[in-house]
Formats: sequence, structure tokens, C-alpha cells
Amino acid sequence: MKRICFALLLLSTNIAVAQTLPARWDELVAADWPKAMTQSAGTCILPIGILEKHGPHAPIGSDLIHVREWAARATKKEYAVVFPDYFYGQINEARHQPGTFALPPTIVWDLLQATCDEIARNGFKKIVIINGHGGNPNLLQYFVQSQLNMKRDYAVYFFTPGRDSAYNASVQRTRKSDPAGDSHAGENETSTLLYLRPELVKLDSAKIESGENLRRLAIPNVYTGIWWYASYPNHYAGEGAVATAQLGKVITENTVESLAKALKAIKADTKTIALQNEFFSRVATVDGAPLSSSSVADELAKLKTLLDKGAITKEEYNTAKKKVLAN
Ligand SMILES: [Zn+2]
Repeated sequence: MKRICFALLLLSTNIAVAQTLPARWDELVAADWPKAMTQSAGTCILPIGILEKHGPHAPIGSDLIHVREWAARATKKEYAVVFPDYFYGQINEARHQPGTFALPPTIVWDLLQATCDEIARNGFKKIVIINGHGGNPNLLQYFVQSQLNMKRDYAVYFFTPGRDSAYNASVQRTRKSDPAGDSHAGENETSTLLYLRPELVKLDSAKIESGENLRRLAIPNVYTGIWWYASYPNHYAGEGAVATAQLGKVITENTVESLAKALKAIKADTKTIALQNEFFSRVATVDGAPLSSSSVADELAKLKTLLDKGAITKEEYNTAKKKVLAN
């Protein structure tokens, strides 16, 4: 009897597992797309990592591991679909190190835009970029700003983890090295890896190289592309050796909580797209004034491109064309 009960229990557990809707895009079956769309409120996370050296001790894909884990954990609290591994960003400064995957800038840009377009074509009108790589924020912020360059039927949101005073105090209590020098593959980052994937961290190797700031270039108030290499030629900044899984837990839990909260707010958000639409209707008429003939031609050309790409239907094209010509 006991054995039968156990077998039944196992069976029901398996059914329960099978019935859970996966968050990952690549783990969903196509038939579940409408269900995933409803449950996510049309929201898709695009987790962006990078492939680059992480000191002498942490894995090349550290940033990817981070975003993958944040997305997996946050979507258990607040469902959204998660786009598979994406590691095409800005990493020119580490091209002298093994394992770095740095695509040409125009490809990085076009791939990101095309990826967002494709995610939206699949029904997701809210795309949430989460980023694990310190060399990406300038690129990503400019990318998000550039979404206003052309009318789109979707919005891109760029998530940054929130940090309140309780969190800051908790980190300060737990950490060991000077936060000012703690950056790439340093105490913070190594700690989160020790918490998430300890088997991939070679902590004993963390002292083989120096993560000290060498300050080899100091021109006041000037930014150069070589600044990072000038400071950290080992592509290592901080002291990975003092990392602990305990600190990693504090940082990870805060990020996951913060992401789940952001997802909830984004899923409920109706303002961003409404404001985008309002903005573009004003762009088209320059605040009520008719378009100049060249703008009309531009608008028509853009519509034709969208139609040719299959982004809009013939019917939508004709309606939009009529509207442009009527202005
Ligand atoms: Zn990293």
C-alpha cells in the first residue's frame, strides 16, 4: 500500500511539474504561447550578458550567469517570458584577453534592434532589458533613447536594481574589501557567483593576478576609450579572493526582489505605450502643424518599409497612408 501511495505521489508531482508554464522562451511549447502571453501581460525579459575574462578565477560567462539566474528567480515571483541567452554587447576593452566575444559595433546595434523587433513581432509589447555587464549601460541607455527615433508598437524598459538603506547597511556589514575599488570580478561579483554557481569559481586563483587600479592615465575631465585598460590591464578590478557566498546571497536576493517588483509594475503599466503613441502623433504633425512635403514623403517611405518587412498589414498600411496624406 505504502508503495502504491508513493507511486501515486510521484505521478501527481510529475503532473504538477509538467503543468507549470515555463518562463523561458526556449522551453515553452508553441501551443502555450497564448497562455504565456496572457500570464506575462505581453512582457518579455531580454537578459543581456557578455563573454569576457573575469579575473583569473571567475567564469567567462559570469554576467550571463547572473542575468539568467535573476530572470529565472524573479519570474517565479512575477511571471514573464524570458528570452534565451544573449551575450552580444559592448566589450571592446577586453579584446586582448582570451574568451572575449566582441562583435563589430554596428552588428551589436542592429542585432539588438532586430532582436527587440522579433520579440515584439511574437506578441510581446513590453520588453524588459536586464543587464549583467558593466560595459553595457551606456550602449543600452542610448539604445532605449533611440527607440523614439521611429514609431514602434512596443516599449523597451531598462531595469536597474533598486538599493534602499537597509540593503546598503546589510552589504556594508557583510563585505570585506574597500567598495571604492571593488568592480569587475571583485568581491561583489565573485560573491554572487559563489552564491549562484560555486562550482565554477576558482577562488584559490583569485590572487594570481592583481585587480588593483594602476592609474596609468590621468587627464582631468576627459574620457577616452582606453581608460579601462589603462587602469586594469588584467581585466580585473578588486579583490575576488575575499568573496563570500553570504554577501552573494544578500546582493542576489535584493536584485531578484527588485526585478520582481519592476516586472509587476511593468505588467500593469499602460502609460508608457500610450505616451509613446501620443508623442509620435505629435512628431508626425509637429504639434498640430501639417507635415512638410518632405516629411510626408519620409513618412510614406517608412510605412512602405514596414509593409515590406511584414511589420504591418496591407490594411494598416492603407489606413496609415491615408492619415499621412490627409495631414
Ligand atoms: Zn561581470
